[in-house]
Amino acid sequence: MAKLLDGKALAKAIREEIAEGVAKLVGSGAPAPCLAAVLVGDNPASEVYVRNKQKACEKAGITSRLTRLSQTTSHDELMAVVHQLNADASVHGILVQLPLPDAIQADAVLRAIDPAKDVDAFHPENVGLMVQGQPRYLPWTPHGVLQMLRRGGVPTAGKHAVVIGRSDIVGKPMAVLLAQRGRDATVTLAHSRTPDLPAVCRTADIVVAAVGRPQRVAGDWIKPGAAVSDVGINRTDAGLVGDVDFAAAEPVAGWITPVPGGVGPMTIAMLLANTLRAAGGEFE
Ligand code: NAD
Repeated sequence: MAKLLDGKALAKAIREEIAEGVAKLVGSGAPAPCLAAVLVGDNPASEVYVRNKQKACEKAGITSRLTRLSQTTSHDELMAVVHQLNADASVHGILVQLPLPDAIQADAVLRAIDPAKDVDAFHPENVGLMVQGQPRYLPWTPHGVLQMLRRGGVPTAGKHAVVIGRSDIVGKPMAVLLAQRGRDATVTLAHSRTPDLPAVCRTADIVVAAVGRPQRVAGDWIKPGAAVSDVGINRTDAGLVGDVDFAAAEPVAGWITPVPGGVGPMTIAMLLANTLRAAGGEFE
């Protein structure tokens, strides 16, 4: 039976560490870290995401600000807000909630954010620094997975990691980070065009599933003793399920993350970590 990597408990412990980091920073005379979120339009899911981020900030002692803009906001108006926040020295992190209305060029907006305040870690400069092994910020989801592996006692050095999914926000950075010096995994980045994915997966000591297909990874794809990180969040008639068939994989795996309560709760904690770092605080 696998050891459960409990993201809820781990995220709580990390949020407490971040709160301590914030208190230490403030104790040294620095202002509290400040995260400025920008919400365009009235997408109900985005409202919930932003509210959850703000709540998490407050609990950790991070100040949060929200700029609300209407659905009809123009590209130039949003760019002007980003430039204002870039210039505001009291703001350490900027987060533009996605998705943005169609009239706005989201890529250009994300690239306009000062890379030093880009706590999403989407800016090409931050992606480049990460790839070169000198990260300023790490993208939340892959960072959350790394924290779970490290704190869960999963060895990565010399292991074969198979990352399934090649998105810019999860799969690609995950593969880069696992291969980096210090983690030293041998990485296969698999995707929708990979032939015989089950056979590839069976060779993995570490599986990271970021596919977006409910229970795509079957129990007999898992090598006995492997660590299985399930990034997937799929809403189905049976409720929220991951990309891994948990019931079938759990008896075979050495470690496994549940859905819900696995990688999901780690992501906001990693946003807080980036915001703390943006304000000059420390997080390992
Ligand atoms: P995406 O749709 O951008 O990318 C999915 C990737 O999976 C693609 O690269 C594609 O090549 C690959 N893929 C699709 N079908 C496949 C198949 N049948 N076999 C092999 N590979 C296949 O998705 P994403 O943004 O990377 O997100 C992936 C999943 O993770 C989604 O369920 C998403 O909701 C979830 N997610 C969770 C968190 C979290 O906090 N836990 C964060 C981001 C994304």
